[in-house]
Amino acid sequence: MNKKYDVIIIGAGPAGYAAAIRCAQLGLKTACIDKSLDKEGKPVYGGTCLNWGCIPSKALLDASQKFVDARDHFAEVGISVGKVSVDVPKMISRKDDIVKGLTAGIAGLFKGNNVEALPGTGKLLADRVVEYVQHNGSTENLSADNIILAPGSQPIDIPPVPLADNVVVDSTGALEFESVPKRLGVIGAGVIGLELGSVWSRLGSSVVVLEALKDFLPMVDQRLSRDALKAFKKQGMDIRLGARVTASKATKKQVAVIYEDAEGEHQVKFDKLVVAVGRKPAINGILAADCGIVPDDRGFLSVDEFCATNIPNIYAVGDTVRGPMLAHKATEEGVMVADRIAGQKTMVNYDCIPSVVYTHPEIAWVGKTERELKKEGVKFNVGSFAFNANGRAMAANDTDGLVKVLADAESDRILGVHILGNQASELIAQAVIAMEFDASAEDLGLTMFAHPTLSEAVHEAALSVSGHAIHMLNRKRK
Ligand code: FAD
Ligand code: NAD
Repeated sequence: MNKKYDVIIIGAGPAGYAAAIRCAQLGLKTACIDKSLDKEGKPVYGGTCLNWGCIPSKALLDASQKFVDARDHFAEVGISVGKVSVDVPKMISRKDDIVKGLTAGIAGLFKGNNVEALPGTGKLLADRVVEYVQHNGSTENLSADNIILAPGSQPIDIPPVPLADNVVVDSTGALEFESVPKRLGVIGAGVIGLELGSVWSRLGSSVVVLEALKDFLPMVDQRLSRDALKAFKKQGMDIRLGARVTASKATKKQVAVIYEDAEGEHQVKFDKLVVAVGRKPAINGILAADCGIVPDDRGFLSVDEFCATNIPNIYAVGDTVRGPMLAHKATEEGVMVADRIAGQKTMVNYDCIPSVVYTHPEIAWVGKTERELKKEGVKFNVGSFAFNANGRAMAANDTDGLVKVLADAESDRILGVHILGNQASELIAQAVIAMEFDASAEDLGLTMFAHPTLSEAVHEAALSVSGHAIHMLNRKRK
């Protein structure tokens, strides 16, 4: 007889671990299988996000920004420091400590909530049976009334640029450099390319980013992406758009990259090269041929709006299914599925997923862009407010960027909010809450915001939708 559970989850990233904890909270007998091992070969939970993604990248982004502030900006506010230097091994080990603390936290939460943590690999067989292979090779079959597939994603590789030990790396490798590379190449000006490119550029690398598309950050509001590109170039990142990489040759010490753009073929040499051209579902080996689930052409598992697959009581969540590959989206899907297994009616609002690029300035948005609304034929009004007119931004010596609020021309309902600036990642939450409650720009305008705060820029942008911002001259008044 197979050991039996109410729910088995494969994968303990933000989707899987959140699902596991919520299932257990709701009284379901829950097991969560995850194959990840840390640098010392010990099982770890938390998936890409905690181990090789969100958290370690933000630890390095925050540390490297502190370095830039000390080196370039302290003097501007009247603080003198001697020559500022970087201790890369210490930065990396601090990052590792943060990861360790958080992943140990997940193990603790599993224990405290009675989630059975099963280190090893899971594979979905037919009839809601999961083959569980431990790291020592020992194998058993487990059964469950419900199964949640949450195996996450992995970097895409491109044939012209195979990874080459310690010289050509993916995002995981770019979190582990032992010293600051003199010349760093990044392929892909997406979220990972810009975040990790920023880290090493701030620490002193000469960074060249090669991006195949002609448009910079096409999913971002056009004004914001234009201003962001200017800011990143000013910081020293050499971002080359319309650059198609055709070949590379790596030695032990450097890599030569050939790319083509409108002007022809070019060669450029780097000490390290990061390939950051997107991620794909990590479904290798997770589905037995007769399990009834077939991935689509791009490897995604097809699900409905409640993350149910075509097989009853089998669900898939997180990066493995449609929608943005974001940790918070993965978590909310995991929680929704757990709730629904327990009979509740929880839903995810896919129209209200915030996105953030953690560069400096940060870029954050929720809802529709102007381009999308125009394409859909929706009439809308725009309000905006620049941080250079915000007292708190001036006090903080950080005035780049702006807030934009897009509201329906008829109903005034907020359709999108776009922020470029310091703390945009925090400010966007206000817009998400407003949109979750179907707020109008006027609702936000009639809300009181503490003074002096960066949030007042959100307030003023909402007021400016109708031409009533207080701290700027309004061009149009309604
Ligand atoms: P994952 O986190 O990938 O977890 C899946 C887990 O399942 C893994 O531990 C994997 O080992 C395990 N697994 C897979 N197959 C099996 C199997 N057969 N058996 C057992 N276990 C298995 N998102 C944000 O929202 N904000 C950010 O700031 C951010 N920064 C990022 C930075 C980087 C460098 C990267 C790479 C990603 C970043 N992301 C960020 C994306 C985020 O990490 C993912 O969206 C998120 O981790 C997806 O969660 P998940 O649970 O679906 O999958
Ligand atoms: P991405 O899709 O954001 O960007 C990849 C970029 O590479 C694109 O601009 C694409 O045009 C370009 N590209 C693709 N092939 C290329 C080629 N051959 N040559 C040159 N450029 C090429 O992907 P990513 O940056 O790898 O990130 C993967 C996922 O991880 C994203 O979906 C993102 O949601 C998630 N992530 C999120 C955050 C965050 O929320 N802050 C941070 C990191 C990663």
